Amino acid sequence: MVIYSDADRLELLDYGIQIPVYDSRARRTFQRLLDHPVLGPRRAEWHLAHGGQQIDRADLLRAHSSEYVARLYGGALEQEIIRTFELRDESGRPYRYDPASARRPLRELLEQALRMVSGTYQCCRQALAGGFCYYFGGGTHHAQYEAGKGFCLLNDTVIALRKLQDRGEVRNAWVIDVDAHKGDGTAAITRGDASIRTLSIHMAHGWPLDEPEHDAQGRPNPSFIPSDVDLPVAAGEEGRYLDLLAGGLERLAGLSLPDLAVVVDGADPYEHDELPSTGLLRLSLAQLLSRDLAVYEFLQRRGVPSAWLMSGGYGEKSWEVYAQFLEAVLPRRLP
Ligand SMILES: [Zn+2]
Repeated sequence: MVIYSDADRLELLDYGIQIPVYDSRARRTFQRLLDHPVLGPRRAEWHLAHGGQQIDRADLLRAHSSEYVARLYGGALEQEIIRTFELRDESGRPYRYDPASARRPLRELLEQALRMVSGTYQCCRQALAGGFCYYFGGGTHHAQYEAGKGFCLLNDTVIALRKLQDRGEVRNAWVIDVDAHKGDGTAAITRGDASIRTLSIHMAHGWPLDEPEHDAQGRPNPSFIPSDVDLPVAAGEEGRYLDLLAGGLERLAGLSLPDLAVVVDGADPYEHDELPSTGLLRLSLAQLLSRDLAVYEFLQRRGVPSAWLMSGGYGEKSWEVYAQFLEAVLPRRLP
């Protein structure tokens, strides 16, 4: 029900990247569950190691263009990583990036991304088997069809769902994205694909919706491609968040009934999140617990298995958001 392995740790500082994604959110959430009076002694009944199932190029090609996949596996990998993590400013100088302090080569981030897709895929399969699974990783929802974006090299959710569809294990799916940032990559890649329905509740303004709608060549910016249900929340409207979400879930239910739901469960709407671009949405810990339980119970009532992914969550406190939800839900799910 919980997939967590030490080997999944992703400390961007190891690569010289100065973005506050801390390994601590997974490790501290896990430790909190181990310390729980009911869950701690029964760890074997809820904890699974990441099995590391292989994800190959053919899997990537179900969500990404062949040109992009060729660049990732060829000489342009480092360039793609630098662009995806926005590590150079407009004049080409390093931006929140100090190559001299790196302890690991940048190109390893592709292996990390593949490993994350593998975790998401395993999480989906576990959810199909047991009804609920939470992977302590994944949710890289900004990756687009033709390129990585916003720290996301690969769209793990779409790759995993389409692999399951290819194997005949899933026909229809929902992606419920409650990260602070719009699930733009997922919406764009699945546009026109009625077998994957998307809901995104996110900051109405700010990144990635503060970019121009068209680039210099007049091509549309895929971040503006709508999800099936988009729920933009303006700054200061946090009091309406839970009502908006409830209404959006009902609209989603009117579109289809899926075999599986993936919940992109970002903790970055938290009022104590430390990434500057999340500042326009500031939910309290209590509101975030209500958010997660609303999604959980909505899916439970309909008998839809759900695979949950950590997605965004930055700084020292983001673990609190994940831990409180799992402390509420896991004890109910023990046999
Ligand atoms: Zn986010």
